[in-house]
Amino acid sequence: MRALSYSGEREVTCHDRADPRPAPNEVLLQMKAAGICGSDLHAYRQPGPDFLANARVPGHEPAGVIAEVGSQVEGWSVGDRVTAYFRQVCGTCHYCRTGHSNVCINRGGSYGVGLGTADGADAEYMVVQASLLFKVPDDFSLEDAAIVACQGGTAYYPLTRLGASGQDVLIVSGLGPVGLLATLFGSHMGAEVVGIDPSAARRALAERLGARKTFDPTIAPVGEQVRADYPEGADKLVEASGAMAAHAAIPGLLRPLGMAALVGLGSSEFKIPLGQIVHRELIVFGTSIFPTTQYEDIWRFCRRHGIAPSQVVTERFPLEQGAEAFRLADTANTGKVCFAFS
Ligand SMILES: [Zn+2]
Ligand SMILES: [Zn+2]
Repeated sequence: MRALSYSGEREVTCHDRADPRPAPNEVLLQMKAAGICGSDLHAYRQPGPDFLANARVPGHEPAGVIAEVGSQVEGWSVGDRVTAYFRQVCGTCHYCRTGHSNVCINRGGSYGVGLGTADGADAEYMVVQASLLFKVPDDFSLEDAAIVACQGGTAYYPLTRLGASGQDVLIVSGLGPVGLLATLFGSHMGAEVVGIDPSAARRALAERLGARKTFDPTIAPVGEQVRADYPEGADKLVEASGAMAAHAAIPGLLRPLGMAALVGLGSSEFKIPLGQIVHRELIVFGTSIFPTTQYEDIWRFCRRHGIAPSQVVTERFPLEQGAEAFRLADTANTGKVCFAFS
């Protein structure tokens, strides 16, 4: 099969390798769509030894059809349209059993990203534990499913934690694919969405996807710009940029008692003025992808509102153009970049 690997800093190659075979508890997935995510870009910029030494396949947003079923797998058949939860969660700990699988305390590695050595989605075939599979509804595309499997869920979940609604001015800080999806979903939840991003292309995309207004944080302090239109500040905020300056700006963007969900993890340092959080009683919390129990909710929400997660896709590439796809995603100037498979 054809597969991608990182060959150095910001270097991606496409090469031939043996098709993987499913273990008894796994299925073999024939890939139809795979997305590039912000967390793939961290490894693209600085691939760890696991990626370089083993030519580990990147990508953790797979969607495709089952090509082969392991000997002990029940309930799945060849030809089923599926995506997968890329975190190898246990399914049995307290958190998994109470609807919080995203914070499983017995996590194995992840497919194609982060801890472990498991190969990912940027290949013609991939093996996945059957317990981590999700069925894709017939009325959505496999590209939609690749997006829901990571970034779509990562955008939807914090909005539900925030309780975003028509009563809210909702700031989306960072208009990469997660921020664009939060804009799309948040506006359909009824919120007045205000987007912040230095890229004019991304701001224009956000306005097409439902943002009422957008601001460029490089021309003036973003708190001042937002307060010219919303003097008390916003009710709620999704931080999807991961930038240290964006974290520091959060208290100045929120009204007293406002709430912010931190989604982006771009910098390893975290700077946020604690005094303002205390004196204005702000609530700031983290979210980490989404719990598996929310998967069906996301499709129901999209169906009810007539929207598709793939509305945020602006570029599609065949796997052979993996180097160009990653280069473009790394510019932080596009919508979602996806691989399409024949
Ligand atoms: Zn991701
Ligand atoms: Zn668990």
